[in-house]
Amino acid sequence: MSKKVFLSTYGCQMNEYDTELVRTILSEAGYLFTEDELQADIIMLNTCSVRENAHRKVYGSIHDIRHRRQGRPVLIGILGCMATGLRRELLENKQLALDFVVGPDSYKRLPQILIDVGAGLKSSLVSGNDPRGYDVTLSEFETYADVYPSRTEGLNAWVAVMRGCNNFCSFCIVPYTRGRERSRPVGNIVDEVRRLAGEGFKQVTLLGQNVNSYLYDGHDFACLLDEVSKVDGIERIRFTSPHPKDFPESLVSVLAENPKVCKQVHLPLQSGNDRILALMNRNYTGAEFLALVEKLRKACPLLAISTDVIVGFPTETEAEFEDTVRMMKAVQFDGSFIFKYSVRPNTKAARELRDDVPEKVKTSRIVRLNALQAGMSLEKNKAFVGQVQPVLIESVGRVKGGPVYARNDANKIVLLPYGPFKVGDLVRARIIRATPHQLKGEVE
Ligand code: SF4
Repeated sequence: MSKKVFLSTYGCQMNEYDTELVRTILSEAGYLFTEDELQADIIMLNTCSVRENAHRKVYGSIHDIRHRRQGRPVLIGILGCMATGLRRELLENKQLALDFVVGPDSYKRLPQILIDVGAGLKSSLVSGNDPRGYDVTLSEFETYADVYPSRTEGLNAWVAVMRGCNNFCSFCIVPYTRGRERSRPVGNIVDEVRRLAGEGFKQVTLLGQNVNSYLYDGHDFACLLDEVSKVDGIERIRFTSPHPKDFPESLVSVLAENPKVCKQVHLPLQSGNDRILALMNRNYTGAEFLALVEKLRKACPLLAISTDVIVGFPTETEAEFEDTVRMMKAVQFDGSFIFKYSVRPNTKAARELRDDVPEKVKTSRIVRLNALQAGMSLEKNKAFVGQVQPVLIESVGRVKGGPVYARNDANKIVLLPYGPFKVGDLVRARIIRATPHQLKGEVE
């Protein structure tokens, strides 16, 4: 009888995407899936290492699962970034008693690992008498180009175009857990997007840890966007996350001129101070970041720009934080994700820098930036009032009279009154009101 798998996902969109890959790989090997962990024969947690203490949450989940199962047999394993980042700790932790630990580049081996583990055999990579399946090898080549993800959403499809990262930002664990950059062939990506269009998807979001460093056989990211935009049926193309150092003129032009490429970009700033940016190993200065924003806005005046900022990076002084405040005011971001610095084990910053900015200072800095951003977001959103824009319907009100959620090209949520819409409809809406977080509109 086919075994049932319960699969839960933590962390970023790339992890969600990997879960879709794992579903395909295991389905093809004859496994079934269940949403009820009590019915499962195998439980997999696809984990993330990016946040501080992420492992505690996962350890707590495993403990809870075992408690709920009340001794009923089950195989439990860890997939994803934590598998590579914390492999030794995971294997040595007797309380977790994991059956398998499989990193992001080894999912094709999962069916064999599960067979081995189920039979009580040791996997080829495990030494001694340890019966657990273990493969956290990082590959220079694996892109899963030949695996079509089992998607559950029906409007936007995430398409990973590259994997890994070569940047080694000092606060980030990704290059250690997901390995070096590698890109999928253009034709292979376009084939996948064609298939998605045939299934009714209207929007694709191209995904990569440093998506705009995509390069395959001389084809760069700008070229890839152009090729994907030629697919009939796909109305909108977004991408995440780009690095500010990888914006050649060709990419600025495609962003500005290709009507299917959404006029929105997420441009992680992280800090407005050059010393901190150097400590973060970000490979740009504040002036270079600002010059890029000016170039993008000149080419595409309607471009919405969002960002990530870290406050309280080790040794950040008040004056250096003020540089970030100044930079945010200068750019006038549409939205920001602002984080307090926290130590990520095994990163360069964790090894070499002391987390010396007091918690209350970090808190006051984040509060200040969030307030600043709320004001800027409101002003940015108000600029849309009176405009008529195409918006893509994302969800229709469940109850008659409830609001309909749509999104404009700039990635802003637009609330529409209840109406006879279907998810995926592209309608024209007049924006009538703005708040810092959303717009309100009426269908034209
Ligand atoms: S660009 Fe920096 S922050 Fe982004 S994944 Fe790579 S190392 Fe991490």
